[in-house]
Amino acid sequence: MNPKQKQFSIWYIFIALWALMLFQIFVTPFFNPTEIPYSEFKAAVAAGKVEEVSVSPAVIHGRMKADHAKEGRAFDTIRVEDPNLVRDLEAQHVKITGVIESTLVRDVLSWVVPIALFAGFWLFLLRRMGQGQGGFMTVGRSKAKVYMEKEVKVSFADVAGVDEAKQELQEVIEFLKTPEKFTRLGGKIPKGILLVGPSGTGKTLLAKAVAGEAGVPFFSTSGSEFVEMFVGVGAARVRDLFLQAKEMAPCIIFIDELDALGKARGVGPMAHEEREQTLNQLLVEMDGFDPRVGVILMAATNRPEILDPALLRAGRFDRHVLVDRPDKIGRLEILKIHARSIPLAAETDLDVIAAMTPGFVGADLANLINEAALLAVRRNKDVVGLSELQEAVERIIAGLEKKNRVLNPAEKERVAHHEVGHALMALSIPGADTVQKISIIPRGIAALGYTLQLPTEDRFLMTKSELENKIAVLLGGRVAEEVIYREVSTGAQDDLMKATDIAKSMVKVYGMSDKLGQISFDRDRQPLFLQTGLPQTPGDYSEETSREIDCEIRRIIDEQYARVRTLLHAQQHILREAATVLLGKETITGEELKAIIAQTGTRS
Ligand code: ADP
Ligand code: ZN
Repeated sequence: MNPKQKQFSIWYIFIALWALMLFQIFVTPFFNPTEIPYSEFKAAVAAGKVEEVSVSPAVIHGRMKADHAKEGRAFDTIRVEDPNLVRDLEAQHVKITGVIESTLVRDVLSWVVPIALFAGFWLFLLRRMGQGQGGFMTVGRSKAKVYMEKEVKVSFADVAGVDEAKQELQEVIEFLKTPEKFTRLGGKIPKGILLVGPSGTGKTLLAKAVAGEAGVPFFSTSGSEFVEMFVGVGAARVRDLFLQAKEMAPCIIFIDELDALGKARGVGPMAHEEREQTLNQLLVEMDGFDPRVGVILMAATNRPEILDPALLRAGRFDRHVLVDRPDKIGRLEILKIHARSIPLAAETDLDVIAAMTPGFVGADLANLINEAALLAVRRNKDVVGLSELQEAVERIIAGLEKKNRVLNPAEKERVAHHEVGHALMALSIPGADTVQKISIIPRGIAALGYTLQLPTEDRFLMTKSELENKIAVLLGGRVAEEVIYREVSTGAQDDLMKATDIAKSMVKVYGMSDKLGQISFDRDRQPLFLQTGLPQTPGDYSEETSREIDCEIRRIIDEQYARVRTLLHAQQHILREAATVLLGKETITGEELKAIIAQTGTRS
């Protein structure tokens, strides 16, 4: 349920309460007699205004004569010890019934009516919400929107620009096609595969294509479908989904926006109980099924860093496939795929368009082709030409500019040098993670470019020099800018933050500073991967120690900075050469960089 709807229903409860109050104030007195003092009652009797009374031991109920009170209004009065009462009443010929009138009907009326009204409102409200989105009224009936396609028409030919991801998923297809063969040959069966990448890069499409290639049914749903108001509903839905899927095995379950339900637990002020239960159920289901039944779980997220670490553990989503923004060649391929469905002018060069669109994802490119086709229609043309495509690019960039930064050429050049700086450091420092690829395709709002390093192996321990090397690689970007431009930019903010964090941990947590010795100054160690922003308790050390810690952190960073500067100065020509290549190609692999180093290194 979205917040807007919740607000809407709160409104209704509010109105119902108001109605109840108004009812009590204005309507109830109409049924209820007014209470009058005994003296007033006696006066009324003496004046001949009273028509009849019924006397009970404690109370006297009565009715005024019609002409003395509006419509013979009823009244109550407390019965006082009064020996003359009967005589006075008789004197005025007041009818005395003496029967104890039951107040039951009246009481019931004054309570039941408002409650009935209130219940009516409530039902009305429930009905409304039920219509809205199957939420509220379908508790326990499990109504997550799951789409099932028995025969998927999408194939790998419909997805382009993500060759690495396709390669990694090939194995999954093999398994789904012939599980027996696969297990016989001793292949490790994948269970959960996490597709990581910005939105619109084709993660959903890719998952679907895997189902299409393997010829198995495709279940798809979104993580947000499982986050419900009532505790337990989401969990029931997860259980249902797996039950359904097992009946159709072999098949693929795809969960989009996994982060909506897989957010790290206990983070933030509101640890959401419902989400936690749903997440737990998902974990239970994942652990519970034997992959040999042939159900493969795929999920997509663009924020892997906020996922609960439990989801990523072995036997769960332990395979991660990067689905990145496409490079120039990838964009061309994607454009070709989408151009199949429109009449393109004969000699249209899609290369030009691919070159114009760094940072575009598949969804943007599909949109671009669509816009161009619409433009051609508006211009009464039979075919879509280059001019329509170019105009469509401009339109989409104008739309994207708010979301993504589009770099000007000077900025791009700087980013290229910065990234090559990181990469060169990673290559020249022993034991650093290998450089997978370097890119100046903007990613999201934060990163203008990036150097993707993959660890060569899982690490559980790191030595002091390894941590120093990590800092050196992080500083490589900024130093490269300094070496080339003699001036630094704001582009290194994130690098500096990470470098400082490492240096801080070295001094405060790992006792790696000779000056301060083997002491841990950090009591509240945080869980390994969650930056939960827990309040930091002030350390139990003196101000002087605190100053020393700062000095040590600065020393570590400064030392590495000097080291990197020496290294990069010596490789200046390589830095320039590689940056030029990167500017032209937008993405280069680690191997390509090594080739450039080999060439340039020998030339100079
Ligand atoms: P994601 O799931 O990563 O947000 P989608 O798979 O929903 O992205 O992509 C939306 C649409 O954009 C697709 O249906 C397809 O038309 C187009 N698209 C995205 N990526 C690609 C790609 N790599 N190749 C071809 N088309 C793509
Ligand atoms: Zn950087």
